[in-house]
Amino acid sequence: MISYEITAFNEPLVRAERPAPTPTGTEVLVRVQAAGVCHTDVHTRSGCYDLGGGKLLRMNERGIGLPLTLGHEIAGEAVQGGEQVPASMLGKPYLVYPWIGCGVCEVCEAGQENMCAAPRSLGIFRAGGYSDHVLVSHSRYLIPIPDIAPEVAAPLACSGLTTYSALKKINPQTLARTPVVVIGAGGLGLMCTKLVQALGGRGSLVLDINPTRLAAATEAGALAVFDTSQPGAAEAIRAAAGGAILSVIDFVGSVQTVELGMSLLSKGGKIQIVGLAGGELPLSLPMLPLRAMSIEGCYVGSLQELRELVQLARTSGLTPVPTVCRHLHEAEASLNDLEAGRITGRIVLKP
Ligand SMILES: [Zn+2]
Ligand SMILES: [Zn+2]
Repeated sequence: MISYEITAFNEPLVRAERPAPTPTGTEVLVRVQAAGVCHTDVHTRSGCYDLGGGKLLRMNERGIGLPLTLGHEIAGEAVQGGEQVPASMLGKPYLVYPWIGCGVCEVCEAGQENMCAAPRSLGIFRAGGYSDHVLVSHSRYLIPIPDIAPEVAAPLACSGLTTYSALKKINPQTLARTPVVVIGAGGLGLMCTKLVQALGGRGSLVLDINPTRLAAATEAGALAVFDTSQPGAAEAIRAAAGGAILSVIDFVGSVQTVELGMSLLSKGGKIQIVGLAGGELPLSLPMLPLRAMSIEGCYVGSLQELRELVQLARTSGLTPVPTVCRHLHEAEASLNDLEAGRITGRIVLKP
């Protein structure tokens, strides 16, 4: 089994070769066919998140141990199962739900494993998909994808799921009647633009500072796109909304983008922060009640939501975001390209 892993934070990934694990009990060994490259992987390799004010959240303080094989957007074929895995599951293609919790706490019991305080997420706390094989702890985390190509399905597990879960946290009437302001036209922002349409939303106003990414957002079906590095962008966004702005989803999560997003909100609006660019903000507390403003942090989504999303992708004709397929051995270069903003859409690694 060949994997690309972090052996030291803030250092290049290292190629490792070792025997593939043998699944026991409920475990399933999946032969990886596609593994999406996510911005979280860039953060994890760096070893920390920027909390602002010179403070860092270090990955080892989050319980992330090394060596670690990255990759949480995984699609592949179930090739071997433990004694409790039905033989009929083997030999078929699946999307892997990677946001695995402890499985026994009340949060996990309620189906919110992505919120578990003792996470075992693949590619973050356990070996992930930057490999030719990955061990999944239970067959219930495998979602059949008989009619979706692995490189199309893989990004659904994080960029798709995160976006879907964020959109589901918007009141359906609000989604149908008012546009969603999408900050950041990377993999998640483009996915969001497509999902707003698939869910019957009014549409999205997409903000970025990169003309290539903005063009991709137009291609993805945005109502309008805005280069926020240009003067007058905020006024243009309000004019394009043609009414209240009640939903902002920030896929960047920097001081500038969150400040902009909050300033755009009408009374009763909500900003959801998804991106982890980092920083800290002073917050005028009376403005929260006076503007009835909500600030919500979003972290991926549940197993049930991923099942719903795969169903939506299979039935709604949800077209994939632009995808660049690369060989697994380009994992390190792909992280560098993503970090430097040289990628439009998603990179998917294939062994
Ligand atoms: Zn991700
Ligand atoms: Zn749990």
